[in-house]
Amino acid sequence: MKENSSSSDIRTVLIVGGGVAGLTAAAALGARGITVDVIDLKKGAEGSGLGIQNRGVDALDAVGALDDVVAAGAAHKKAPLRFYDSEGTLVFDPSPPPREDGKPSYIIVYRPLLAQILTARAKSAGVSVRIGLSISSLTQHEDRVEVDFTDGTSGSYDLVVGADGLRSSVRSIVFGDEVKPVSTGTISLRWVPRGIARIGEAGFYYGDDTEMVVIPMHDDMTYVSVQHPDDRKLNDHEARLLLRKKLSQFSVPLLTELHRNLAEDEHVLVRRYESLLVPSPWHRGRVVLIGDAAHATTAHLGSGGVMALEDAVVLAEELAAPGTVESRLDAFERRRFERCRTVVETSVQLSDMQKAGANATEMGAARGPAMEVLAQSY
Ligand SMILES: Cc1cc2nc3c(=O)[nH]c(=O)nc-3n(C[C@H](O)[C@H](O)[C@H](O)COP(=O)(O)OP(=O)(O)OC[C@H]3O[C@@H](n4cnc5c(N)ncnc54)[C@H](O)[C@@H]3O)c2cc1C
Repeated sequence: MKENSSSSDIRTVLIVGGGVAGLTAAAALGARGITVDVIDLKKGAEGSGLGIQNRGVDALDAVGALDDVVAAGAAHKKAPLRFYDSEGTLVFDPSPPPREDGKPSYIIVYRPLLAQILTARAKSAGVSVRIGLSISSLTQHEDRVEVDFTDGTSGSYDLVVGADGLRSSVRSIVFGDEVKPVSTGTISLRWVPRGIARIGEAGFYYGDDTEMVVIPMHDDMTYVSVQHPDDRKLNDHEARLLLRKKLSQFSVPLLTELHRNLAEDEHVLVRRYESLLVPSPWHRGRVVLIGDAAHATTAHLGSGGVMALEDAVVLAEELAAPGTVESRLDAFERRRFERCRTVVETSVQLSDMQKAGANATEMGAARGPAMEVLAQSY
């Protein structure tokens, strides 16, 4: 259903990047009667899990996607994010009590399924989604942005949204290359095995030098994630060996079961952890950055995707209010900058603490203040 509340100035929007931020923004803007085109270089998302907590749940609800994500994923009334030692003894439970409004506190969903749901929401709001396409140039005018696409076609829009992730082309075309992602000197290893027996609790397990995140997902999938303090490239075999070595530190049955099941044909996703915070402002004229294109970090708070969801919904809300494009984009950023900075900086701090050998209690305590901020509405 169209909400009859679009700002008089913005009628057409191009969103570059159809990830969490781009598709959610498309659904939110399309629902407000704005004509939206989304372009992406590729279809779908990487085969891993995304944990959605705090107000990310409300952002999904705002675009009408919450019920579908709950149905597709594993939803929890109380976030399953407790801290255990290597033998499985509970050390620290920072999870807030269940929400009073009955919504889940935490959902974990397979990223390709989330991409399908958000694409369907965007399309049902009238959005066009084109895959295999990017931009080759953007030319700003006072009242529009002229865009050349990589397939030789062109278009004219009232606003362009750069939602094209950490290595954003929109950012480098419009903002230049002074602001670049910075390596944290660490990598993440992620694995989503199927058929692991449900013989333990979800949570953060602390071994000798390792924080292992294990969260059962929907169907028979389990999400496993760990940081390693070295960002050298690893091939598939090396990634499996490293994850196996880390799992071998634990005597908890759930983790020994994972260790036993990490066979040679299993795929472990390796990703360098990098951080980025584009200094204010995130907009130049009629081009604005959202999601990882503007702010990205490690997964220590599990909130980068949540920030992307919130950015999308707040952008649509602010563009619907009266005012010039400049004033609406300023208002968007006033609601977003400090919150996203908290996520970026606290996550890097947690990553550094982990490298320095912090224990479960220290890590849990350092997460606390940021999680309190993120529990507040956006
Ligand atoms: C290991 C790891 C685990 C994480 N776990 C969590 C978690 O549990 N919870 C959470 O909230 N966050 C998590 N995050 C963070 C989260 O993944 C990101 O913050 C989120 O995906 C950002 O969404 P986005 O849409 O801004 O960017 P992306 O997801 O990167 O999407 C960008 C899109 O733009 C497209 N694109 C790129 N360049 C171009 C171009 N030139 N033209 C057109 N399209 C382009 C890409 O194909 C992609 O589809 C994690 C991050 C990492 C690294």
